[in-house]
Amino acid sequence: MVGGGPAGCAAAIVLAGGGAEVAVVERSAYDGIRIGETLPPEVRLVLERLDVWDRFQDDGHTPSPGILAAWGQPEPYANDFIVNPYGCGWRVDRTRFDSMLASGARAAGAVVLSGTAVDRCVRQPDRGWALTVTSGEGSSSLSATFVVDATGRSSSFCRALGSRRVVHDRMVALVRIMSPAVEGAAVDRRALIEATADGWWYSAWLPDGRLVLAFQTDAGTGMRARWDEWLVAAPQTAARAAVARGGEVRVITANSHRSEPVAGDGWLAVGDAAAAHDPICGLGILWALESGVTGAEAIRSSAVARYDVDVRERFERYLTTRTVYYRAESRWPDAPFWRRRHHDAAS
Ligand SMILES: Cc1cc2nc3c(=O)[nH]c(=O)nc-3n(C[C@H](O)[C@H](O)[C@H](O)COP(=O)(O)OP(=O)(O)OC[C@H]3O[C@@H](n4cnc5c(N)ncnc54)[C@H](O)[C@@H]3O)c2cc1C
Repeated sequence: MVGGGPAGCAAAIVLAGGGAEVAVVERSAYDGIRIGETLPPEVRLVLERLDVWDRFQDDGHTPSPGILAAWGQPEPYANDFIVNPYGCGWRVDRTRFDSMLASGARAAGAVVLSGTAVDRCVRQPDRGWALTVTSGEGSSSLSATFVVDATGRSSSFCRALGSRRVVHDRMVALVRIMSPAVEGAAVDRRALIEATADGWWYSAWLPDGRLVLAFQTDAGTGMRARWDEWLVAAPQTAARAAVARGGEVRVITANSHRSEPVAGDGWLAVGDAAAAHDPICGLGILWALESGVTGAEAIRSSAVARYDVDVRERFERYLTTRTVYYRAESRWPDAPFWRRRHHDAAS
């Protein structure tokens, strides 16, 4: 497993649980900031399938009753999970969540090498793989009969093998994690989505009390300098930011793309390495976990060609759903950001 995020850990749990010898090689020590913290109620199903639902519930994440959306209109409306059969959604401490999944992989029998990066992966004459890995203790080698690319949006293993990246847009997110100005002040714990002419804002209070703000727009120059201008255009989000302070603005890729192919002889990709989604669809971690499970099952049943087709078909359905979301906002039909997304529906 190259990468120990949600997708890599999910695949490791299924494979190790089935008796395979599995190593998860993860660059980080599960100690840095990770982006993406809102989980839909349906995540319960896959966490139960991975046998980590009890660990998850014991981990101090915040239940989320729903989201607020100023989308298609300036006043926010509530989109509650009250009628969802799987209960509430969740706002997770992402570092703790990923670390919990790594513990789940260890409990299933996998070896997790954190603080270790895969630098190189070379095909062997026996059809296996030789991997060069680097940790604080230097470089060493690993051999594997099958490699899973779970490296996230970089999809570095697929790309090194010649897999093509099919890119659908150039969305980025400007992300800032702020501290509360007044500790313990009462705040609305629901995530808020607010559309503006140039893109859309997401904001949510994290379990540790900090506020995450993200502005999704198309990549351009001088974006950080436009933070305040963009924030003023979103009064509901600006009101949240007004009771928080600090934090640096980081620009990260948030576009939709998929790898082509996502599987081949002795390898496949899961999670964002296989297909990365627009955050508006709220699919990221759920997809990472589900594709980790289905990818592992495909390896176990020697059905990787079918997996490749399934990922492509599911991504096509996602693109249609994405357009439906964007078409629900029609206040700025001539603004380039919205025109590009409304146009997708017709193409
Ligand atoms: C702005 C933004 C907001 C988002 N918000 C949400 C949200 O609220 N809810 C949601 O569900 N999703 C959200 N997402 C998406 C979500 O974060 C991703 O879909 C999810 O993290 C994908 O999981 P993954 O395991 O495929 O990849 P990742 O989480 O990226 O994990 C990949 C892992 O591989 C490791 N790695 C990479 N290269 C190597 C290497 N060479 N050797 C060893 N290790 C390596 C990395 O350290 C990392 O731990 C958001 C995305 C963006 C861009």
